[in-house]
Amino acid sequence: MYLHIIDELNRFLNFINVPGVPLNPNAFQGILVKKLSNQNIIKDKRRINAGENASTVNQTHLDITGQQGMLFFFETLNDTTTAFQNIDIDLYDNNLKYLYANDAAIPQSDSNGNTYFVRSSTTVPPQLFPFDLMLHSTAYKKYGHTGNQVQINIPDSDEMFTQLQHCAFQNDALVMLRYDYLRYVALIIPYELCNNLYTLTNTHGNQNVNFVALNPTYNQALAHQIQHETITRDVAYDDVAATTLQNTLNNNPGAGIDIERIVKTRVSQGSFRRLLLLERHQCNLCDITTTSVLGASHIKEWAVSSREERIDSNNGLLLCANHDALFDRHQISFNPNSGDICISASIDAEQRESLNLSDTFNLSMTDRMKSYMQEHYQKFISKENT
Ligand SMILES: [Zn+2]
Repeated sequence: MYLHIIDELNRFLNFINVPGVPLNPNAFQGILVKKLSNQNIIKDKRRINAGENASTVNQTHLDITGQQGMLFFFETLNDTTTAFQNIDIDLYDNNLKYLYANDAAIPQSDSNGNTYFVRSSTTVPPQLFPFDLMLHSTAYKKYGHTGNQVQINIPDSDEMFTQLQHCAFQNDALVMLRYDYLRYVALIIPYELCNNLYTLTNTHGNQNVNFVALNPTYNQALAHQIQHETITRDVAYDDVAATTLQNTLNNNPGAGIDIERIVKTRVSQGSFRRLLLLERHQCNLCDITTTSVLGASHIKEWAVSSREERIDSNNGLLLCANHDALFDRHQISFNPNSGDICISASIDAEQRESLNLSDTFNLSMTDRMKSYMQEHYQKFISKENT
């Protein structure tokens, strides 16, 4: 069953021209298929509740209900300890392009009078030009929004997903493949190509039904390797996007702060962060493994790093929010020769304890990390001496 579904998905990827990347069945723990309804609409969420009625946030909600759905995304039912859990979802660019390429969306009104569109084309769009880029979404999953429900939120306003605004995915299939607890691949199979899939999952005629198939021969090492390859490729892509944004910043000094923030977010909170998460799993300084508070810091500052240096994992520390802030402000650094921690004299003994900073901590560093650390350490020293 599991393998038949993978075959079907690979046929779809081939059809929409995602060449050279068939899904390797051994890389995934399992598959969830959800037959979508007209309630599954990509909406723009206005921050009216937060008092920011001027700004909008494009936020894609994917709701998975039922106990099987719970267990697919969390390890136990009623896992309220992880109300918010940052996750990564790979999305194929051509998948979204295919959905976007419908030629006759029919407008409908919901009960609040809002307009949405149902993909209506029975004419299958022509095959798309070769384009194998895989998009990476940093999303989060939220447990138990209303009862047994997982809500997946993709909050990135840059995502191509948002081009599908106000589209409802009636009868389309949402397929989630699980690499592990934090990493997934998402596919949306348009309904006109779903016959075989729905036959396999026996969801003919039903909407909002989840189907889960587990992989009996999951290979963790292989999943890790495949993830690493795609992330490395995506980091390069993010770097291009960041450079484009940086150019925009240079041409619009007035727009500075926001765009600079986006640039940093693209690189340090996106794929670079994933890369470090994949390698290290926890804060470089302490035992924190909760991904929602773990961020990626460039050791040599992003602004003065070369393209290669920006995507070199040796140039990164995975740090919890507290340690990230301290490192970013040069209140802690590391001796590039010994790896011994250096803590600013401005932080007294009591605060060191509260911040989980030990004077005897030693950071194990590769030679490349040591060379990146030189400048950070010098800045720390000169800051302490002023
Ligand atoms: Zn920490």
